[in-house]
Amino acid sequence: MEAIILLGAPGAGKGTVAELLKESTHYQHVSTGDMLRAAVKSGKPVGLEAKSYMEAGELVPDEVIMRIVKERLDEGADDDLYMFDGFPRTIEQASLLDLALRDTGGRLTHVFMLQVPRDELVSRLAGRRVCRNCGAVYHVKNIPPSTEGICDTCGGELYQRADDSEETVLNRLEVFKKQTESLIDYYQEKGLLVDIDAAKSKDQTEEDIRNVLASESGA
Ligand code: ADP
Ligand code: ZN
Repeated sequence: MEAIILLGAPGAGKGTVAELLKESTHYQHVSTGDMLRAAVKSGKPVGLEAKSYMEAGELVPDEVIMRIVKERLDEGADDDLYMFDGFPRTIEQASLLDLALRDTGGRLTHVFMLQVPRDELVSRLAGRRVCRNCGAVYHVKNIPPSTEGICDTCGGELYQRADDSEETVLNRLEVFKKQTESLIDYYQEKGLLVDIDAAKSKDQTEEDIRNVLASESGA
């Protein structure tokens, strides 16, 4: 198993770029945020544990996260390619991932750090709308759907995530600074970090990542 990580602040576009890469590469998209939202929606026990943290923009406990990630990886095959989005988010999660990879003979090949200026992050999150049905992501100004409030792909209803309210957004950016930014050094020291300018369009950002993957795998 080989894996890459998409690292970056909330609003950096990890999920959006991951959806594009899912179409253009063989990587499977593993988003802990999406998995948690699905668990909340279906009323699973994990969802009940996670809900209050998510609404406050705080991190869900590492133990809960590792449980859902392990469950997801156990479903996979040895030659699977994974793209982690929103995971790991703490040093503890990163070292537990290292252990899990060592046990299964898997390895991390790249950690892409999606760089976006803070002002742009705030405006992206505040204008973000998500399809209730298929999870597609839009932005009221930058990526508007052709009909307001309706998903282009599936016709589902677009809504604003509870944690995209202004107050929660500021807390999530704070949590990123305090708890997740240290992962940049962690992966830099392992020689895995690749900086990506993610203030560009989603297509350009996806292409930049795809080019790194292609050039370094000799494809
Ligand atoms: P964003 O990256 O835009 O903040 P996500 O969808 O990745 O959005 O995450 C939403 C929320 O889910 C987070 O604020 C946090 O509460 C929870 N969460 C997701 N992934 C993790 C993780 N790896 N560790 C702890 N909490 C997580
Ligand atoms: Zn949709």
